[in-house]
Amino acid sequence: MRCERCNQSINESEAREHLGQTLCEDCYLDALSPVRTCDPWAVHSAKTFEKHSGRKGQLTPIQSEILAILEQSGGIEAAALQARLGSELTESDLQRELAALRHMEKARAQKHGQSIIWRPW
Ligand SMILES: [Zn+2]
Repeated sequence: MRCERCNQSINESEAREHLGQTLCEDCYLDALSPVRTCDPWAVHSAKTFEKHSGRKGQLTPIQSEILAILEQSGGIEAAALQARLGSELTESDLQRELAALRHMEKARAQKHGQSIIWRPW
């Protein structure tokens, strides 16, 4: 049996039903949780990624792209970053990636007047 979202093979006992899909526990939690930018979420998301990819400390293509933009710009607001990425990445996807990057100590948020600027760690 396979998770319909990440395609990882799962035991029947681990399988979770969500909106008619069979999901592994991580994807199930993922589907249930609204995006949070607090650290427990980042930990979960980084761990999920490591578990699913089998690689440690490797960035996803989108995370590398985000970091490249942060380095190029030296600091950028999330909204501007999202525009630069120009993909179908939603704001909540982006927040999740940023939270994961922060957990990996690759990127950090800094308050700049009224706005939050993301920059390389
Ligand atoms: Zn899954």
